[in-house]
Amino acid sequence: MSRKVTDKAVGNQPARHAHVIIVGSGFSGLGLAIRLTQQGRTDYLVLERGSDVGGTWRDNTYPGAACDVPSQLYSYSFALNPEWTRSFSKQPEIQRYIQGVADKYGVRDHHIFDCEMTGARWNAADARWEIQTSQGAFTADILVSAVGALCEPNLPDIKGINDFQGEIFHSARWNHDSDLTGKRVAVIGTGASAIQIVPSIAAKVAHLDVYQRTAPWLLPRVDREYLAPEKFALKRIPALRGLYRAGIYAARETQVVGLAKFPPAMLALEAIARAKLLAEVRDPELRRKVTPNFRIGCKRMLISNEYYPALSRDNVDVVTDGIKEIRANSVVTKDGVEREVDAIIVATGFHVTDSPVYDTVAGRDGRTLAEVFDAIGQQGYKGSAIHNYPNMFFMLGPNVGLGHTSMVFMIESQINYIADAVAQFDARGLRTVEVRKDVQDEFNADLQRKLQGAVWSTGGCASWYLDKHGNNTTLWPDFTFRFRSLLEKFDVSAYETTTAPVAQAV
Ligand code: NAP
Repeated sequence: MSRKVTDKAVGNQPARHAHVIIVGSGFSGLGLAIRLTQQGRTDYLVLERGSDVGGTWRDNTYPGAACDVPSQLYSYSFALNPEWTRSFSKQPEIQRYIQGVADKYGVRDHHIFDCEMTGARWNAADARWEIQTSQGAFTADILVSAVGALCEPNLPDIKGINDFQGEIFHSARWNHDSDLTGKRVAVIGTGASAIQIVPSIAAKVAHLDVYQRTAPWLLPRVDREYLAPEKFALKRIPALRGLYRAGIYAARETQVVGLAKFPPAMLALEAIARAKLLAEVRDPELRRKVTPNFRIGCKRMLISNEYYPALSRDNVDVVTDGIKEIRANSVVTKDGVEREVDAIIVATGFHVTDSPVYDTVAGRDGRTLAEVFDAIGQQGYKGSAIHNYPNMFFMLGPNVGLGHTSMVFMIESQINYIADAVAQFDARGLRTVEVRKDVQDEFNADLQRKLQGAVWSTGGCASWYLDKHGNNTTLWPDFTFRFRSLLEKFDVSAYETTTAPVAQAV
């Protein structure tokens, strides 16, 4: 079953060859690596640009970083953690969990860390991918992109931002050398990251301006540390962890009805969010500013018990006038008001539908993913393959995203599919495998039909869920168990394949 990682050449350059190369070692790449190892493979490598596993959970170390999905569910089904200390884990605990899983399953030896993919090109003559990295050239029979959707910080294109003289950093690149105590700070953005950062720093800064473009909906965060008897029971009774997980999964899955199928059902959640807003924001002017103007669920629903109280502090202002420019020591809004600041925290999200990685991957016809997506939008098949990119699979590709439950569930579905694809590739003696255009087109037409009535399109908001063509190319429009069953086995009939020539005896 296993081939060796060997040396080949790309042009005149020596290149290291592996049967499978996975790019990225967050939850998705790491999980696939573990499965390949469990299949008895040694012929794969994981190229990771960071110096550790963990992906987004390694990078997002901002104060207050924590998951919005309880860890009993937001973890691998094959590695349930008996050690979680609370219902919604904080970033350090999640990162420790991911590191522990990598160690337990012994896959670190297959990793090359600090190795950034800078380009990948399909070589049709040799039926392999040629991959350029910061550590030289690699080739692979099968390339798997597991780079994640939330990895490339999206820096806002605001006039003068590069001339700011104070400290400035993105939420996903937190500068831990910077001490914000007693400083005048601006936070740009009010998404999932910002609403965790704001309460974490509000009490220690001298003044905080929160620059809000769109007010988000907030729901209560039912988070608490487990009591000692709970910890004991969860540690000692594995079935309890499974039961707990199943309960959270089932409860969260009910949200799909309102989100994807019948948006008026979201009114019940909206009523809870509205009551929370009324109870926690007493000042009418602030209440007016932070009341959202779209149907709940259209943008990602946020959970926090601390955000509104933080905004209500005397040293915090919510600024809604829109940023006109940033000067050396201040932020100027469109109404002409200039506010002096010592530091700016940019919490403006990530390049999701326009990731820079797309510029670096050239497929069968030489076009990059960016060029293909620019023409037709992000389209793929089961979020795992894209026509024109033979022998390439995608973890968290188009339309795999979720807002309501654990991405790890989707990731494990894709692990099943891609690991089976690799197994079938070998068992059938395939040379190339590429998803058929007609199959991909039909799959996407069906997705977009389902998405038409979903709250993400009908809820009256602008969000990064939609691409520039107005299509929702990021979210899965159905129950997640449907995704699981759709990806249970690799459906080779949806693909065009060629087989490797059988070696002739001389
Ligand atoms: P985000 O959800 O994309 O939010 C970005 C925020 O920045 C939005 O409020 C956006 O306003 C604002 N913004 C963007 N460009 C701007 C500009 N040019 N000027 C002013 N404001 C601007 O990003 P995020 O908060 O980093 O979260 C990204 C995703 O990461 C989340 O959706 C979630 O999937 C994940 N995440 C999860 C957790 C968790 O589990 N707790 C925590 C953090 C992140 P508009 O709304 O008007 O676009």
